[in-house]
Amino acid sequence: GSTIGILGGGQLGRMIASAAADLGYRTHVLAPDRESVAAQTASALTRADYHNKVVLADFAAQCDVVTYEFENISALPVQWLAERVPVHPSPLSLEVAQDRVREKRFVEQVGGRPARWAAVDSREELDAALAAIGCPAVLKTTRFGYDGKGQMRLSSPADADAAWEAIGGPAVLEAFITFSHEFSIILVRGSDGTVTSYPPPWNEHRNAILHRSTLPAPAAIAAQWTEAAALTGRIAEALGHVGVLTCEFFAAADGPVFNEMAPRVHNSGHWTIEGAATSQFANHVRAICGLPLGDTALVAQRVEMENLIGADWERWPDYVAARDTYLHLYGKRETREGRKMGHVTRLER
Ligand code: ATP
Ligand code: MG
Ligand code: MG
Repeated sequence: GSTIGILGGGQLGRMIASAAADLGYRTHVLAPDRESVAAQTASALTRADYHNKVVLADFAAQCDVVTYEFENISALPVQWLAERVPVHPSPLSLEVAQDRVREKRFVEQVGGRPARWAAVDSREELDAALAAIGCPAVLKTTRFGYDGKGQMRLSSPADADAAWEAIGGPAVLEAFITFSHEFSIILVRGSDGTVTSYPPPWNEHRNAILHRSTLPAPAAIAAQWTEAAALTGRIAEALGHVGVLTCEFFAAADGPVFNEMAPRVHNSGHWTIEGAATSQFANHVRAICGLPLGDTALVAQRVEMENLIGADWERWPDYVAARDTYLHLYGKRETREGRKMGHVTRLER
């Protein structure tokens, strides 16, 4: 069979590798970290430098298609690879999704509605942005933020100094949205342009980290599903995206507010492993390998996915013992506060 190259060595890469193996593909991981959990299920070049052209050329030569599991990687090596081997999603999806300013502009161009926002490149611009947007607001670093890292909430203009000190520029100031729920649209677009998406999970966060995803979503989300899925479809189309694309939304009183996108499989889609007819990982592999996409339907009455953050994973014996409960531990060697160590999915059939 063919070999799928995966850039990035985290749990998402590991789960892609596992789904790829089920479909008969080999996987090859390129990861710069010493600890690549994806490498546990694939052959790997760990501690490899993404900018080393000898390493990249070797990687390209070994892969029939390349994908990525993390958007906070430099776009340059991905562009370089794309000139030598098919890369899905394309470097355009990566470039747009890794820059909050570009992402918001892109989404606005296809008719999406993010929170009121302003680009902030200096302390003076932060004052101007606060005057225009008001408080409460959130200052987010333009690039490289994840799990709430690289963002700070401002309750009043008096917080500007502290926020600037903590975040700095380039950044984006966003109005703080009042919402009843958060949800996500996990969409898959095939190489022939076929599109399908999953029923939306209700996503609850703790300390800006995803805590739990629940399906079916409450009525407030169901009412906004069609509009959010249509927007996600327009984004995927405009990007020429191939693979999974995830958009996060706030369910506000006046409709869905776009939060951010990820050009990849997503934590809020982990429930699909046991809770959907085809997992997001299997569908991602199908899309990037040119196979027909699989059914995205929910296969249970109710599905709940809970992240195991930090020391939470120590409760694993309870999860293994429980019925209709599926434990996933990522095999990370070191437990750290706020670190995603695993997740558990519960089905009500
Ligand atoms: P991820 O790990 O999802 O990539 P991230 O660091 O990119 O996270 P965001 O998704 O931008 O962060 O924000 C994290 C969480 O913080 C959101 O899911 C939401 O709960 C809250 N949040 C962020 N921006 C806003 C906003 N403008 N209004 C209200 N809540 C917000
Ligand atoms: Mg993000
Ligand atoms: Mg997010």
